[in-house]
Amino acid sequence: MTPENNPYRLDRTVVPSAYRIFITPNLEEATFVGRVEIDVDIESATKVVKLNAIELDLSAATVTTGGTAHRSIELSLDEEYEVATYTFDPALPIGAAVLEIAFSGILNDQLHGFYRSTFTDPSGVKHTIATTQFENCDARRAFPCWDEPAFKATYQVNLTVPSHLAAYSNNPVSSDTDLGNGQRTVSFTPTMKMSTYLVAFIIGAFEETEAVDVDGVPLRIVFPIGNAHLAAHALEAGEFGLRFFAEYFDIPYPGEKMDMVAIPDFMQGAMENLGCITYRTSDLLIDPATASLAEMERVALVVLHELAHMWFGDLVTMEWWQGIWLNEAFATFMQVLCQDKFRPQWDTWTSFCADRDMALDIDGLHTTRSVEYEVVSPADTQGMFGRLTYEKGAAVLRMLEQYLGAETYRDGIRNYLRTHSYANTVTTDLWDAIEEVSGAPVRDVMNTWILQGGYPLITLQDGLISQVPFAYGPATGESAIGSSWKVPVMTRSLKGGAVSVHLLQDDAIAISDDPPVVLNARGSGYYRSRYGVAESAALADHVDELDAIERAVLLSDSWALLFSSQISADQFLTIGAGLGDLDEPTPWDTLATAVGYIKRALPDEQLSGFVERVRAIFQPQFARLGWAARPGESALAPQLRAMVLSTLGTVCRDEEIRAEASKRFDANQVSGDLANAILRIVSSQDRPGDYETFLERFRNADTPQDEQRYMRGLAGFSVESAALDAAERCFSEFRNQDGSTIFGLLTSNAKTGPSVWRYMASRWDDVLAKFPPNTLSYTTRGIVTFINDAALADEVEAFHESHPLAGEQKEVQQNVERMRVGLTFAAAMREQF
Ligand SMILES: [Zn+2]
Repeated sequence: MTPENNPYRLDRTVVPSAYRIFITPNLEEATFVGRVEIDVDIESATKVVKLNAIELDLSAATVTTGGTAHRSIELSLDEEYEVATYTFDPALPIGAAVLEIAFSGILNDQLHGFYRSTFTDPSGVKHTIATTQFENCDARRAFPCWDEPAFKATYQVNLTVPSHLAAYSNNPVSSDTDLGNGQRTVSFTPTMKMSTYLVAFIIGAFEETEAVDVDGVPLRIVFPIGNAHLAAHALEAGEFGLRFFAEYFDIPYPGEKMDMVAIPDFMQGAMENLGCITYRTSDLLIDPATASLAEMERVALVVLHELAHMWFGDLVTMEWWQGIWLNEAFATFMQVLCQDKFRPQWDTWTSFCADRDMALDIDGLHTTRSVEYEVVSPADTQGMFGRLTYEKGAAVLRMLEQYLGAETYRDGIRNYLRTHSYANTVTTDLWDAIEEVSGAPVRDVMNTWILQGGYPLITLQDGLISQVPFAYGPATGESAIGSSWKVPVMTRSLKGGAVSVHLLQDDAIAISDDPPVVLNARGSGYYRSRYGVAESAALADHVDELDAIERAVLLSDSWALLFSSQISADQFLTIGAGLGDLDEPTPWDTLATAVGYIKRALPDEQLSGFVERVRAIFQPQFARLGWAARPGESALAPQLRAMVLSTLGTVCRDEEIRAEASKRFDANQVSGDLANAILRIVSSQDRPGDYETFLERFRNADTPQDEQRYMRGLAGFSVESAALDAAERCFSEFRNQDGSTIFGLLTSNAKTGPSVWRYMASRWDDVLAKFPPNTLSYTTRGIVTFINDAALADEVEAFHESHPLAGEQKEVQQNVERMRVGLTFAAAMREQF
């Protein structure tokens, strides 16, 4: 479909260039009134002006051109395409004009458009906030506009607000006028030329840090009052990121200031509004004294991701939503690249393997999708925000970067951003820009990764490398997994020497590295690896010579081969036993996940031998690491310690570890890296009263991380009344932003998951009404653990097939397929133990 015949798109008869937006919210009544003046160019004489609007009451429009004001004679609204059509008679003449429309609307609770959020401050006072979230097509809920990324314009925002409240937008304040009636009008300077989805305005009881001057850019953290002590980490990451990206892209930050704002109710992690980035509170505000390393990493990664968007996304923008994957993939790639420089000791490229695995897990299913696909409607775009966009996209960019060399790749990115600043692009513009600099066949290679689903399994056997498509199971219907890829394969000999680079296509390639040879050397390839018998034997005694990332890849590839019934549990656990004493937690994380899954598959009478095997692997690590930090231990040791304790305490039910965890919990010594492990071990014991204590600590949490930890921790209890109580609270107590995620966790509980799923199904209408669109599929994440009961699987599949989700059904289908793969896997495990 071309832009011209897509009914969701506006034509270019009238094109906006500058908006002046005047908004007055009424926070008590949850309403707003507004007015917009838009400088437009009328490209050909027309009787109709079409622009986007939905859930707004619109006035007649006035178009002033050449000193004459034309008033519209008719207004019609198309709810399906979200288009307002104004009719004028006589026709409006060609030329520059100003369009004026007044409007009013409601501050909704759906976390999109112009919406309402609430919080209670430390002294117990409740406050209401009005804030915006416009990506992808929701600016039209706040003001009538040409709400497509290709209609770039400038925006001058004016907010009339209660005098005691703070107000923010994309640009600096130009004037602040007291109206004498308890209200004031805050005006902001016009933005750079950009897309509507990047506009933001926020009103509420906020405070800010002092601005840090980052080479001329004032940077602040903005938060609901009373949270100043939680801002330092994000400020430090923000300062680092702004400098790093200006240098990497070789283009100064395109905005005029940077406020990073914590919003108590927020759909996703964060939103890259130019100069006014909004965040979920737990992704911005953090107390380093009580947070875990994983939580510290998460905050920094989200901050760096959003800052990367200021260039890639805001300065250069996709022409239509089809290109959103590239925007998100690139920001995800850059967040890791930058974090690796921000905190080298965190070994972020290795932990990225765990994120990449989430994409590989989905992408090995026949219900996968290509990264890029045709997007016609806004609902089509919803399905694009997922792991195949963020994590697969980022992983294939990393593979390309390593294949071309980091500097060549960077120069290609610079070329792309310079060429297309303030404009819009399609995906191939990026490949062309990198190709121009590198001379490599970038477009050809990348098309095989982006335009078809799946990835290959690379085999090294008899000195040859070759590819076949990887799949977790046989296809029962259509498969979206492709057949062949252009694969940059890196190999190296463990005896030393450089990494060899091969571009593998349909024909096998002979390699000349001395055995033992490692595939996916340095771990940047987006594929699975398998070794022939001789190659495998040569490698087996040298696993501890692999670097950290190669070890992580070996474990995750082995887990994938086990889950797809291509190797045995014995082979997998033997590899796990060879991990050695490296603190890097990523391969251990894979191992812990895998043994958790195997345990689910086994009935009680088959558990003892398996549990002993797991204990034999994890116990030596506990002996090495203990409960307390050792002097001089690595930055990553605490994470590994938590993983080891959690596995020994839950899978192996180690009495001593369970007792110590309970003791710490009872004394309320639950913080830092051990916090989640302690909560997991405690909840798995189902002691009377603990569920209520979790709930109590959730309600009185001092930090967003504690709040999340205790709320999520509720899903660990296996008493049915507790599980159903937590499920009910998704509707009555927890924030709408969290409901879907909590349902996903509650349904993952090995004992009570099925009951919670049935409860959820019985309240499906409430799920649809209450939780924000774009998060609904998270409610089905737990069904992938329903691996022991074929009748339940049938019931689940039938229900979700007959209750499809608009833009997110693909993810639901993937969860159903993974559940089916799990049933086969579980049956195999019962044979093997
Ligand atoms: Zn993003």
